[in-house]
Amino acid sequence: MTENYDVIIIGSGAGGGTLAHALANAGKKILLLERGDYLPRELENWDAKSVFVDGTYMSKDTWYDRDGKAFQPQVHYFVGGATKLYGAALYRLRPQDFGELTHVDGISPAWPLSYDDFEPWYSEAEQLYQVHGNGGEDPTEGHRSEPYPWPAVSHEPRLQQIYEDMAKGGYHPFHAPCGILLNEADRPNSTCIRCATCDGYPCLVHAKSDAEVIGVRPILGMPNVTMLRNSEVTKLETDSSGRTVTGVVVSRDGNREVYQGDIVAVCAGAVNSAKLLLNSANDRHPNGLANGSDQVGRNYMFHNSRTVAALSEEENPTRFQKTLGLNDFYFDTKDYQYPMGNIQMVGKSNAEAMRGEEPHLTWFAPEFGLDEVAKHSVDWWLSTEDLPIPENRVTTDRDGNIHLTYSHTNLEELDHLYKEFEKLLNHIGMAKHHVLHKNYYCHMDIPVGGCAHQVGTVRFGTDPATSVLDVNCKAHEVDNLYVVDTSFFPSIGAVNPGLTAMANALRVGDHIRSRMA
Ligand SMILES: Cc1cc2nc3c(=O)[nH]c(=O)nc-3n(C[C@H](O)[C@H](O)[C@H](O)COP(=O)(O)OP(=O)(O)OC[C@H]3O[C@@H](n4cnc5c(N)ncnc54)[C@H](O)[C@@H]3O)c2cc1C
Ligand code: SF4
Repeated sequence: MTENYDVIIIGSGAGGGTLAHALANAGKKILLLERGDYLPRELENWDAKSVFVDGTYMSKDTWYDRDGKAFQPQVHYFVGGATKLYGAALYRLRPQDFGELTHVDGISPAWPLSYDDFEPWYSEAEQLYQVHGNGGEDPTEGHRSEPYPWPAVSHEPRLQQIYEDMAKGGYHPFHAPCGILLNEADRPNSTCIRCATCDGYPCLVHAKSDAEVIGVRPILGMPNVTMLRNSEVTKLETDSSGRTVTGVVVSRDGNREVYQGDIVAVCAGAVNSAKLLLNSANDRHPNGLANGSDQVGRNYMFHNSRTVAALSEEENPTRFQKTLGLNDFYFDTKDYQYPMGNIQMVGKSNAEAMRGEEPHLTWFAPEFGLDEVAKHSVDWWLSTEDLPIPENRVTTDRDGNIHLTYSHTNLEELDHLYKEFEKLLNHIGMAKHHVLHKNYYCHMDIPVGGCAHQVGTVRFGTDPATSVLDVNCKAHEVDNLYVVDTSFFPSIGAVNPGLTAMANALRVGDHIRSRMA
């Protein structure tokens, strides 16, 4: 007789790792199933060539684009999921992101819950993930019931100068919210050493607030928690009514195993969660589990992003660069009637990481070697909201492989954001700048493969005809099935999705706890 668990959680990333933490501490008997292993701790964690050129920590998955062309997606299968590699910029969505917003290519729909509904969970997530920030500095942010648990991470001198130049130019820069375990008041005892290999790299010293370090590790010793690694869930089985998941089918060490839980939470990431539901079709759910609405897999979003290295005459010796943000163009302005998005920093350029971009860089700046480019660059990330359109979708073929069909929306808004960014550079003493585009962060030659910010494929809502999940992220059509990762987003906003996934996992965890009480 198979052991029964209170809750089976599939995937240990931002959604699953946070949910596991919440439910374990509520005393629930949990089985955490993770297809990956622990990310190995090795010097390669902090080696740019290994991470960005060799793609050591990217999955070996093959997915297919709209034309059936194979590509390697930017996904990471480890305990902690994508957060093992993330930049740990932990932003809240803006209050307006929860309402309807008109964009150049259509409507970003309202969420069934408001910012006020999410606010307490944002605060709790910021406490749990030890976010560093400076509340009130960003004019677009919503109200907060609690201050950030840690002071903002300071700017290094070159960034401080840029911050001041921006402010002098009439902009409203702010200290970006960072999830790193840095104690600037007590550096000798700080877990984080403030290094230059953070955004996009794993943290060798476990000082990033990722879902493994914060969510999973602290609960592993508990008697009510079991985690199985290298355990890929391939199918969910239901009873004959189709209303209850009765079996979680796992492929482990080449064997098929089946587990049972009163509640099953799918937290495999937006693409893999859709894949699992689609591949779990049965007589009662012929189009895929919980897919009577035909919405599973649809409305895939991942941001329109542009990574830009701006070179100036002076060197930029910054190590931890991700300390600055600007939301002055997040919404419309007097010069442009649509929202444009967020500007923030990415990890500091590194010649080794730029190697893959060499032909482009040589064309752009023939007078510079890659070392010079990296030494002088200030590295930015521009991000515009893309829209949930039904044709942008995940499907699976008869062998269960993932097909990702995607066409961009709102590219005009990104172009406008870029124009504003160029004006900004003139204000911050980089008038004689060179600007170049680089995409080593995405490390993809097919844009659709840069799916770091994937969301939206199993959206929540109040209407079962247009959504898969109810407001508690429970499937409308199945009584014990939840999806608790970035899949539930009805729209993506223009800031990074991680904190919203974590806050939502705490919210849903609270609901599951009350339901099981
Ligand atoms: C390089 C990079 C930088 C980023 N930077 C930021 C940032 O600065 N700020 C931010 O907010 N966000 C950032 N993100 C995005 C952020 O990491 C994701 O939004 C977030 O981790 C998504 O959470 P999730 O729970 O949906 O999925 P994940 O965190 O990816 O977790 C999914 C988990 O499910 C597991 N899994 C998948 N399929 C199965 C299966 N069938 N069976 C069992 N387990 C399975 C996976 O191995 C993984 O562990 C970044 C992402 C990347 C890749
Ligand atoms: S900056 Fe801190 S958290 Fe980031 S990789 Fe370095 S030591 Fe780890």
